[in-house]
Amino acid sequence: MADTIGECLGYARQRLPRLEADLLVSGSLGVPRSHLYAFEERTVDPSAGTRLTDWIGRRERGEPVAYILGRRGFWGLDLEVTPDVLVPRPDTETLVEVALVMVSDESSVLDIGTGCGNAALAIASERPGAQVTATDIDPACIALCRRNAERLGLTVTTRIADCFAGLDDRFDVVLANPPYVDDADPRLRQGDLRFEPRRALVGGPNGGLDIVARLIRESPDHLATGGWLCLEHGDEQGEAVASLFEDRGFADIRGHVDFANRPRVTVGCWREERS
Ligand code: GLN
Repeated sequence: MADTIGECLGYARQRLPRLEADLLVSGSLGVPRSHLYAFEERTVDPSAGTRLTDWIGRRERGEPVAYILGRRGFWGLDLEVTPDVLVPRPDTETLVEVALVMVSDESSVLDIGTGCGNAALAIASERPGAQVTATDIDPACIALCRRNAERLGLTVTTRIADCFAGLDDRFDVVLANPPYVDDADPRLRQGDLRFEPRRALVGGPNGGLDIVARLIRESPDHLATGGWLCLEHGDEQGEAVASLFEDRGFADIRGHVDFANRPRVTVGCWREERS
């Protein structure tokens, strides 16, 4: 099919968008992307060529690039990902950015529904003194989060838990990128979402806010006085989420926009002594 790196790039770019093509060529050859452009004349191993052809076919059938590569960058961290977890999205870097304002090196932090651990590990990388706990209902996610933490040399405590179930500590900051897509959203049957775990995406009928509402309802029992709850949500859910925070008695409720200027993260402070 192609004898040199340059020919592999040409072949892949004819079939896929340029960035996806280059990521698959670099992954299938096992070299960094910068290497591709510096050594276009180099010949490639036939087995790498076969792998590339297979990967391009998988991408053409819709499989997310991150699942094919088994890797995804998030917050500058190179993370292992598998089809057990949602592919970390740049959108969730907004959640991390917003949460970090409230997190010091003395804070205790809880990331609920951590998936591959992306948000928890990003926080641990920025605040090495903070006590970061990551939970997920799925043992496969927790195993993956642990592998990522170990490979990156970052410390997080992990727990298999359904939301707050079984956790008796109080935290200074609780954050989550929960499932918040409406069960009936047609996007679930299109594109990359078809390949991602439904459990990580779907937040119930009538707006997709069942899990968000549950986290807002239950979090006061798990927040220190003056602690913050930070939640990612869909760009049309900002007002509904803010009302849920308000009805529960949170203070200092604020919405934050993502890099595309859409309202995607809402935070609130729990000021009461008791819930
Ligand atoms: N932001 C994702 C999407 O709509 C959904 C992630 C989530 O439900 N937590 O593609």
